[in-house]
Amino acid sequence: MPRIHLVNPSSQSFGVAVITPRWLYVLASATGTRWGDPQVVDETLEPLDFNSLAPGDVVGIGIHTGNARRGYEIGREVRRRGAWVVFGGIHATLFPDEAVEHGTAHAVVRGDGDVIWPRVVQDCLARKPRSVYEGGRIAGDQFASARWDLLPSGRYMWASVQTVRGCPKHCSFCSVWRTDGQEPRQRSVERVVREIIELRRLGFRFIALADDNFYPVTLGDLAQAKRRGDGSRLHELEGLRAERFALMTRLAELPDDLVFYTQITMEAAEDQTFLDAMRRAKIRGALVGVESVTADGLKDVYKGFNLAGEELVARLRAFRRSGIHVLGSFIFGLPSDTKDSFDATVALAQRADLTFAQFVLLTPFPGTVDFEKWAVDERRRGTLIDGVPLTQHWLIHEDRRPRLYTAHPTMSLEEIRLGTQRAWDQFYSWRHVWARSRVVESIRARIAFVLISKLYRQMYANTGIATDSARVQRSARWARLIAYACRRLFLGKPMPDLPIPDEQLEPTFN
Ligand code: SF4
Repeated sequence: MPRIHLVNPSSQSFGVAVITPRWLYVLASATGTRWGDPQVVDETLEPLDFNSLAPGDVVGIGIHTGNARRGYEIGREVRRRGAWVVFGGIHATLFPDEAVEHGTAHAVVRGDGDVIWPRVVQDCLARKPRSVYEGGRIAGDQFASARWDLLPSGRYMWASVQTVRGCPKHCSFCSVWRTDGQEPRQRSVERVVREIIELRRLGFRFIALADDNFYPVTLGDLAQAKRRGDGSRLHELEGLRAERFALMTRLAELPDDLVFYTQITMEAAEDQTFLDAMRRAKIRGALVGVESVTADGLKDVYKGFNLAGEELVARLRAFRRSGIHVLGSFIFGLPSDTKDSFDATVALAQRADLTFAQFVLLTPFPGTVDFEKWAVDERRRGTLIDGVPLTQHWLIHEDRRPRLYTAHPTMSLEEIRLGTQRAWDQFYSWRHVWARSRVVESIRARIAFVLISKLYRQMYANTGIATDSARVQRSARWARLIAYACRRLFLGKPMPDLPIPDEQLEPTFN
């Protein structure tokens, strides 16, 4: 019988990984068991073994811009071996024709795959796949739960569960609001809780809530709907907010050793009731997109709802006061940045008591407003690297790909790259990491904190910014070693008897 394979492409394999790639296990669940259990391959652990494929098998490859090139390489080899090639994910949704041209796709799924995937598989097995399937944006109650029983044991530190898709904002560098939509689609509390319990039963204590924005309704949104006398909108927003609180109430009742982490806008810090509920729900950490520490920088990225300067420091500290550790995300290379921006940003991150920080280079990612503006100019310039237009930068070999794409008004691109590297070096220096490790108490926890800080830096800073491939490989080796040392620190004792509250609900996979 032909088999179904799901592949998460990666050109670097680390043996262990920080977070489970949720989509793999969601589509595994959507596949069902009619064709046996699907074969799940996460190349961040190890590369796909092509010998495991047979002619007539169906191979689903999920790509985002960062791994599209490796995904296409896999697609070509899979097709050469006579299996069906199906692409999905954000990048394939944006460029279905590219997946055919470079990845030799038989079929491309656009949008959410949760509902449409079994039909795609069936059509392939009937030898009649359509070239494009429109998965659209499904409602929150249609999101599939994941097949966590297929996870390899001891390879991931964090599991991931999704509670909401879509974000009402419209940041210029982000594609989420355009691909997932601006209307938040929330999943039912029961389903989320049930999935978390399954994960805790398996021994996962750390769970990332892989949401686009955990605070989709601000106090300002509610006030505006009231001001406009828009009763139905107000009712809808209040409903969304009430569901968030209902979810957090249930999370608070789960075993105390669970730790959740989410992504959220800094507006949440305006709302002490929300922060208190987060703390009770054991949401101990949040990725907050700070982007820039100046008002001009925020204007550059259409993020006027963020604060700058000392107000920003106060807002970020409010998270910490409420027991929520912030991973602050900053962008360098904005037109308003100057040579002083790097040191000023690190200093602010330290003053604001951030537990972790990331410093990324401004990159025009497809699906964003920034990309469209940049691509118009770039097409005029017509830059080619190894025969590939720069407007398809993800198709250029990683070693040859530029780290920055837009000329800056006052700095050279190399100055920006080195300034960014310096920011990582400063924030993650041994001295600063050790000082920050005071956020945890025991010496064991402090060592874990130091290891995780260093791992984060190796995985994301050096491999993303460095231009020489020897340095990238060295970083990857270090990341692998630290990751092996870290993984046990995150897992708890399995709790196979932890009760699932509503046994009447249908199983999460069938
Ligand atoms: S960056 Fe964050 S807040 Fe902005 S649109 Fe994307 S998900 Fe929403």
